[in-house]
Amino acid sequence: MYLNATLSQIYVTLHYMNQEFEAILKQAGQSITRPRRAIFAALAEADTPLKNGEIAARVPLIDRASVYRTLELFSTLGITTTTIRGWTPFTELSEPFKPHHHHMICERCGHAEEIASDTLEDVLTLIANRHTFALKSHTVELAGICKACQQTTGSS
Ligand SMILES: [Zn+2]
Ligand SMILES: [Zn+2]
Repeated sequence: MYLNATLSQIYVTLHYMNQEFEAILKQAGQSITRPRRAIFAALAEADTPLKNGEIAARVPLIDRASVYRTLELFSTLGITTTTIRGWTPFTELSEPFKPHHHHMICERCGHAEEIASDTLEDVLTLIANRHTFALKSHTVELAGICKACQQTTGSS
């Protein structure tokens, strides 16, 4: 997603994200600990939503119990959002940290690709307006078979 960004833009983004992250913790009276920073950084580096176990695997020096406690805290503070697929929760950074987007999820390999579409956003606003509905948020997820899986299955 940073394809067109220069290195300095990436640095500014990360710097801003960390400031925002620390501000949220402080405001909630929570301390900024090394494990919390590490878990936040792991989420910031991920380009798809992760299972709890996958997040724990990315911070091997932190014991699992505190990873899970931290993820609960992040969720409570709105730092992350979690979506359930099947019975499994997947977590990613929430909108203060990630630009608004949706996911296309492959039912075969579980790969999640981010998509952002102004057209989609406009249509949802239009529909809500038509029903005099004060739209606050929305969830849109596309399920299907990804390109790679289509190719390995062959054309049957
Ligand atoms: Zn797939
Ligand atoms: Zn949207």
